[in-house]
Amino acid sequence: MPVEEDSNAKAKKDGEVLEQFLKIGLDERTAQNVLANSKVTVNLLEVIREAEIQEGCGKATGNLLYTVSTKYPTNALEHRPRLLKYVISNKIKSNPQLEAAFGYLSVVGSDKFDADIFEDKCGIGIDISPDVIKVTVERVLQNNMELILAQRYRMNVGGLLGQVRELQPWADGKIVKEEMDTQLKKILGERLPEDEEKLVKKKKEKKPKAEETKAAADTPKMDSDKITPEDSNPFAIFPKPQENITVHTEIFFSDGSIWRPRNSREKLQKHLYATGGKVFTRFPPEPNGYLHVGHAKAMFVDFGLAQETGGYCYLRYDDTNPDAEKLEYIEHIQEIIGWMGWKPFKVGFDDASLFLYHTFFSNNVFECNGSDSFVLEMQITFSSDYFQELYDLAVQLIKRGHAYVDHQTSDEIKEYREKKLDSPWRDRPVAESLKLFDDMRRGMIEEGKATLRMKQDMKNDNFNMYDLIAYRIKFTTHPHAGDKWCIYPSYDYTHCIVDSLENITHSLCTLEFESRRASYYWLLEALDMYLPYVWEYSRLNVSNTVLSKRKLNRLVTENWVDGWDDPRLMTLAALRRRGASPEALNAFCRGVGITRSDNIIRMDLLEHFIRDDLNKNARRSMVVLNPLKVIITNFKDSVVEELEAKSWPEGKDGDPSSTYKVPLTRVVYIEKSDFRLVNSKEFYGLSPGKSVLLRYAYPIKCIDVIFKENTQEVIEIHAEYDQAKTTKPKGVLHWVAEPSAGVDPLKIEVRLFDKLFLSENPGELDDWLADLNPNSKVVIEDALAVPALKHAKIGDKFQFERIGYFCVDRDTTAEKLVFNRTVTLRSSYPKDLVPQS
Ligand code: ATP
Ligand code: MG
Repeated sequence: MPVEEDSNAKAKKDGEVLEQFLKIGLDERTAQNVLANSKVTVNLLEVIREAEIQEGCGKATGNLLYTVSTKYPTNALEHRPRLLKYVISNKIKSNPQLEAAFGYLSVVGSDKFDADIFEDKCGIGIDISPDVIKVTVERVLQNNMELILAQRYRMNVGGLLGQVRELQPWADGKIVKEEMDTQLKKILGERLPEDEEKLVKKKKEKKPKAEETKAAADTPKMDSDKITPEDSNPFAIFPKPQENITVHTEIFFSDGSIWRPRNSREKLQKHLYATGGKVFTRFPPEPNGYLHVGHAKAMFVDFGLAQETGGYCYLRYDDTNPDAEKLEYIEHIQEIIGWMGWKPFKVGFDDASLFLYHTFFSNNVFECNGSDSFVLEMQITFSSDYFQELYDLAVQLIKRGHAYVDHQTSDEIKEYREKKLDSPWRDRPVAESLKLFDDMRRGMIEEGKATLRMKQDMKNDNFNMYDLIAYRIKFTTHPHAGDKWCIYPSYDYTHCIVDSLENITHSLCTLEFESRRASYYWLLEALDMYLPYVWEYSRLNVSNTVLSKRKLNRLVTENWVDGWDDPRLMTLAALRRRGASPEALNAFCRGVGITRSDNIIRMDLLEHFIRDDLNKNARRSMVVLNPLKVIITNFKDSVVEELEAKSWPEGKDGDPSSTYKVPLTRVVYIEKSDFRLVNSKEFYGLSPGKSVLLRYAYPIKCIDVIFKENTQEVIEIHAEYDQAKTTKPKGVLHWVAEPSAGVDPLKIEVRLFDKLFLSENPGELDDWLADLNPNSKVVIEDALAVPALKHAKIGDKFQFERIGYFCVDRDTTAEKLVFNRTVTLRSSYPKDLVPQS
């Protein structure tokens, strides 16, 4: 019977096919399912044939073959046998690897298959040990601990596994899952009944509309605290550490070749293993001067990115030039960075993952202090800490044929660079360079007689590839490294290597370094080291000042200003002394943004941010700068009336001391400029016959004017006050009264500052010192203040009503208070130009 025969034959055939499927380790159910789908069956049989499997294979391999049969891209069938070889030989062992392979093969085309790229993309040869998986899982759990403790077993474990996969895409998923379960159990213990309940998702709370705070009339509408991270995240432009495998730079060589630097998968994995996938940045000042507002921007970028992403930022003293560097600067830099609110990271063993421990230990740079508390004091580094590693790597570089000892003088080097000519020493034997480099190190060669140069590309279009100097001889003691060395590495040689050794993820610097990117990557590649992601942003320039440390140094050492913290300078020490807060400076940096366009920021934009902050944080007080005496003739001579004045226009945070006492007596002082003999429509001050209000007190009316004998100079006003306050005066004046009859008010010194230079961009002028503003500092020795100011301490900030914002200067003594004007009350900066994000 043919039908029966047919079905028998089919059953027999199915049996054989099933047997083949079982032989490659599929479980019975999967095998049956495959069998039920003729298309998959055909595919899988084809895959088994292509894989040349005779005697079956293990379950893991079989599962991969099954995945190939169901998911392999149909446009790349020609490459399938190749892929199967990798699977059978156990080089591709996981689904993520397979997926990476599918991705590559589906786009590679017919004849472009490149085994190196393929293996790199698939993570072939990268073995992720159970130990690494363990620490990765630990790290991820630590990062999510708050949520884990809150949601316990109802937590989305898939999400956690995904985070592990991001860090270690080639790790064995099964081991990861088991490790995750074990560790979760260790943290949470046994399951509780509540763990079975459904997680109720909280509705996103609607944000209450921002309370409309009445901005003081003198501040522009835009408010720096409206720039929230949500509105503008200037760091969103940076890639994640995991993404540092793609190319973002092309380097052109004179032989026509183009190199696109990128990390191999393996290098990136090693790096991610060391950092736990965290962002690592560094702020690398050279300790050759005080930090300025430009450095505030650099810190905002470096520390800010790390903070934004939950990463870490090193403070790294870039101290390769012992000539200009001083201990004073090292100490100051550290102190001012702390003042700016940035903390170089510090990791203790308890809260640090093993990753960090790993990095720092394997770099062999840091020390631990004892076994119990095991704190790694690693937050601050010096390039000079790495002098030994740098030296060893230089030897490597010579051995690899990428560096040579040169004897050209600096003039010859310059000339040869201009002519794009090789140095005559360029091709000397490696052994000779090694020997000479050793001689250099041992002090056997005179200063200037030899350098170590990188063998880059003397005919490149980029002059920063003209065999840059790696080492030079200098018989100078180093402020940090002492006198151990007489050869010192250059910036170009040092910076990239230390970045790589410290596993910096994002090496961010200013645009003048852009042309050095090629050399940066060239050197790391020549040493086969990890390549950080390099990106440049524009330098901050501020109008009417200079920021270069060289120029600042001249201003200070030649006494054009009174020291590094002269309030007219834009050093951070000066801005602090002048009364700017770190919050204001950081808000300014955020406002300016991290752009690549070079421009000069107007000083008044900086002042806007400072003013905005002081408006919220400076107490009000009353001071008369240029006093004019007013006698209130109808006020009793011996009476002192204690009035209450407001410390804040609207009270501050329920502060009980938000008022202060002001005495009113018969003798009061107002500003000279608040009196005019001839009144006019736009004048709000006092004039003969006119009434004005003394703020927090009474209206007064001018009834007489006393002149200095035989002159037109007004020396005293007589006025009457309206105790019932029935008059409606036109203006409101600040004032200071004698605290009691015949006692002078508190005298203070007030320093008014203006722009230090007359031109917008003095740095460009040949004779830039001639551009100094002769009126940049005006000192008022005898201003009068209300008694409440008597207790002001150095650094305290005030708004002197109607005058401006002031800060107590460090020149203050027990005898005399000295105030710096931080900024005036009114902004000259156009409101619509204030950056909104
Ligand atoms: P200068 O030219 O003023 O002497 P520098 O570049 O030599 O400054 P460093 O101490 O080397 O100063 O700088 C430390 C970091 O601060 C570097 O990353 C540098 O790019 C950055 N930086 C320096 N000046 C500015 C600026 N005006 N704006 C933004 N970043 C700056
Ligand atoms: Mg520098």
